[in-house]
This record gives sequence, C-alpha cells and structure tokens, in this order.
Amino acid sequence: MSFGSWVTYGSQLAGDTARDCMAAAYDAGVNFFDNAEVYAKGAAETIMGEALRKLGWRRASYIVSTKFFWGLHDGPNERNTLNRKYLRQAIDGSLSRLGLKYVDLVFCHRPDPETPIEETVWAMHDMIAQGKALYWGTSEWSAAEIARAWEIAERHHLHKPVMEQPQYNLLHRERVEREYARLYADLGLGTTTWSPLASGVLSGKYNDGIPAGSRGTLKGYEWLAERLTDPAKLATVRRLAPIAADLGCTLAQLAIAWCLRNPHVSTVITGASRVSQVRENMKALDVVPRLDADAMARIDAALAG
Ligand code: NDP
Repeated sequence: MSFGSWVTYGSQLAGDTARDCMAAAYDAGVNFFDNAEVYAKGAAETIMGEALRKLGWRRASYIVSTKFFWGLHDGPNERNTLNRKYLRQAIDGSLSRLGLKYVDLVFCHRPDPETPIEETVWAMHDMIAQGKALYWGTSEWSAAEIARAWEIAERHHLHKPVMEQPQYNLLHRERVEREYARLYADLGLGTTTWSPLASGVLSGKYNDGIPAGSRGTLKGYEWLAERLTDPAKLATVRRLAPIAADLGCTLAQLAIAWCLRNPHVSTVITGASRVSQVRENMKALDVVPRLDADAMARIDAALAG
C-alpha cells in the first residue's frame, strides 16, 4: 500500500496535518508517496517536500514519485504534452519543489497523441540517465501505447517504461484486468493503482448524500460530485455493505483489500484527508486473507447486481 496527494494536498491538507498523514502511513509500513506536478498546481509537491524535510527519514527508506503532462505554464507546447523540452523543464521544477535530488518514479501522466512516442521515450531515458529519476512509467496509457514505448526503448537499449498508474477499484476494472492482461507477463509491467475508493464512494460515505467536509463538497471538483452521487454506484455500494459487515471490516477496508488481492497490482495508492482514515485504510492488509473464494464470489454477485 502507498499514499498519494491528489485533491488532498493543497486543498484539504498542508503543514502539520499533511505531515501527520504521511507519518501515520510510514508507521504502518508505507514507503511510497505519490505526487504529480499538476496536483494543486505544484503546491502538493511543495507540501510533501516540506513534510519530508521535517520528518527527516533516511532517503533510501522511502520512494517518491511525480508525473508530467498537464503542465503549469501557458506557453506554446507547455500544456497537455510530453515533448522533450517540457519534460526537461518539468523534472527540474518538481525536484526543486520537493527539495529532492531525484525522484524514484516518474510517470507520463497521460498519453500525448501529438508528440511522437519515440521523442518521449528518449526524454524519459535521458531523465534517468541524468540521475533525476530512477524508473519511468505511464499513467492511463493504452496497452498499445505502452507496448510501443517499450519496443522503442528495447530497440535502442534505452530505459524502458516499467510501471503503469491506472485507476483500479471495485467500480472500475476493465483496463487492469483485461486490457493490460498480456503486458504483465510479456513486459513484466508493474502497476501503482489509483482511487481504490473511487474518491470515497466505496467507503459508503455518499450513500445518504454528500457529507460535510468531504471531497464532494470541494470547490472546483463539481465534476466529481456528480460521479460521487451516481445512483447505480451507490446501489452497488449498498450491496457490498453486508459483505464487509460479515468479514468484520469497514467498506473502505474491503474495497482496498479487494484491490490488494489482485496479483497484478504492485501497490494500491490510497488517499486520505485525515489521519484516522490513514489508520483505518492501512488495516485493509489484515482483511486480504479473509477474501477467500466464497467472499470473492459474493463480491462479484454484488457488483453484477
Ligand atoms: P481514494 O479513491 O481512496 O479516495 C480517497 C478519499 O476518500 C480521501 O481523500 C477521503 O476523502 C476519502 N476517504 C479515504 N479513506 C476513507 C475512509 N476510510 N472512510 C471514508 N472516507 C475515506 O483515492 P484517491 O482518489 O485519493 O487516489 C489515491 C491516489 O492515487 C492519489 O492521491 C494520487 O496519488 C493517485 N491518483 C492518480 C491519478 C492518475 O491519474 N495517475 C488520478 C487520481 C489519483 P474525504 O475528503 O471525502 O474524506
């Protein structure tokens, strides 16, 4: 399990609370902290960087990622792109905000149909060769795009994309389970999956409307609020509730444990806006062994409706 900063860092968390959430995750065994240039327009990286400095952990004991695509500036070729010049500037900006000499993982946050994949592959290879990142990967690329990037890297003996960051949860399975199926064996692809609670829906907190203080109330995330209150999703969550109760766990723990049970998931990136959520979510690990064939069949039936 790992811990990410989308929505929360910069909009809901900063300073002590941001640090406390990371500390709670680290104490529970988390060593990977996910970030992106675009999160709160760079503020999430600044907040995480400050937290890391104050926490003072040994650099070799944790992993930090960032991601590039949307950009922070409005100049030509600086938005929605994976061109060489943008990527070269972007990594320097992220390292400066994080206060780190290198990030462990760097992701191309979305595919860019306008830049030749070969240019992006070379730029990511250069980033690693310069010691600014250790491994690179993709986020929400199609299987065909990942395979193409991998083949270009193989042909030129460049650093290959070794991990994907896709959405994966009880309500969103297709890509991880079907589209990428061949890539795990063929390329050894790893996954750092996101939104295990579908932004909180799978915790059951939206079953009776949008609660105060939740992600669904945040300004600028109105597009998300609609998805959080989708009646079909809420009906599924209600069908899952008795299964969680029988397994002696919360809905959030069931949802995270279900992701962890997939052998093609290298790490589940969790999110939290308070320490109590981090603590609850980390206990999902204890629930994984309870997901036997019977429990999985019950979950599948609940999802099918
Ligand atoms: P989740 O789907 O798990 O949603 C997390 C949110 O759900 C929390 O911020 C909190 O919101 C609520 N929540 C968490 N735990 C509980 C709980 N136990 N009970 C009730 N509510 C809870 O994950 P995220 O959507 O945050 O995604 C996780 C990470 O994945 C991100 O931080 C980011 O690093 C990465 N990501 C990557 C993307 C990509 O394109 N590569 C896209 C999206 C995310 P609330 O404020 O309502 O309490």
